[in-house]
Amino acid sequence: MGRVRPLVNPCVTLMEYSYLDYNASAPLRDDARSAMLDALAVPGNASSVHTPGRNARRIVEDARRDVAALVNARPEQVIFTSGATEANNTVLRGFVAEEALLSAIEHPSVLEVLPGAAHLPVTQDGVVDVDAAIAMMDGMENCALVSVMLVNNETGVIQPVAEIAEAAKQRGILVHCDAVQAAGRIGIDMNALQVDYLSLSAHKFGGPKGAGALVTAPLAQLEPLIFGGGQELRRRAGTENVAAIAGFGMAARGVAAELDDYAQIAQKRDALEKALKEISPQIRIMGENAARVANTTQAVLPGAAAETMLMALDLAGVAVSSGSACSSGKVHASHVLTAMGLGEADASAAVRISMGAATTKGDIERFISAWESMYNRLKDKLDQAS
Ligand code: PMP
Repeated sequence: MGRVRPLVNPCVTLMEYSYLDYNASAPLRDDARSAMLDALAVPGNASSVHTPGRNARRIVEDARRDVAALVNARPEQVIFTSGATEANNTVLRGFVAEEALLSAIEHPSVLEVLPGAAHLPVTQDGVVDVDAAIAMMDGMENCALVSVMLVNNETGVIQPVAEIAEAAKQRGILVHCDAVQAAGRIGIDMNALQVDYLSLSAHKFGGPKGAGALVTAPLAQLEPLIFGGGQELRRRAGTENVAAIAGFGMAARGVAAELDDYAQIAQKRDALEKALKEISPQIRIMGENAARVANTTQAVLPGAAAETMLMALDLAGVAVSSGSACSSGKVHASHVLTAMGLGEADASAAVRISMGAATTKGDIERFISAWESMYNRLKDKLDQAS
């Protein structure tokens, strides 16, 4: 029998590499990894009554407290899921037979569940238009749900969720908020926001992939998406992924403790944006004039193709994303950018740089130098296109 070969990450061994794609997935935190390894050693099913089962249960309930605390909710409001896609689907599927309003810049795990829903417009800076939202709520006969994300994943722009939720409450409309890109970056207070449902994903802030939560307001109704077990107070069937939940809880606790320092990342982001503008004066930083989280830059380089830029930057040792959803590996025009008024060509020419607490000055310098070489190679083509 052959020996099992250890896994080797070629990026690490072959060259220096800078990871600037935290909005796609942040690196696993050390404390979360340790909590997961400890949890993996516990054999019990969290529903079993024996001692190992109760040990697993304790891990799940400790994590539930930490996740609840991150959004100022009570533990019993937290339902663990396989991620935010499941959390979003669980809420939205409950409204398939109703009228709903979704912001035009939501993640596909919201938009694609209710393809017939009306869309709330955004301003050129990528902020959901509150007046338009109120007018649309008033114009609809029987709107049952409004869904607005707290931070957009492409631009990092913070959305006026509390204002929209307040107007929705006055009209008896329920509110869902995808807070995936806000967690660990800005404070989240479920009560102050007045939302009924809030989605979280562990891997965007240093927890493992494949773990998330749906947090519900105390009396919010919920139609489960997955049936066949009494777990999560009958709201989400299936044996709990104890190790992933342990990592999620530990990451939630860690980022909550570090939140005050997070805003400092903006210094690196601002330096990066300044350098990009100096090198390539025609770029547009999307959402630049709106309130943004500290870690995200979305830059549009007119005439360039996102796919080409991503590959050039990857070869130069930096990982970034296109502005658009590219879960299939193929870059499409970004629906967020078209909602902000860009044409198809510009909406296909965006690069998203997203950093985290571990991002160094060296990472930023490597990105700027990679950008400069790429820009100089593309320049003639860009000049012809303009
Ligand atoms: N919502 C937003 C805003 C996201 O950025 C993502 C991740 N791309 C999701 C939902 C889906 O989360 P998950 O990866 O946990 O399914």
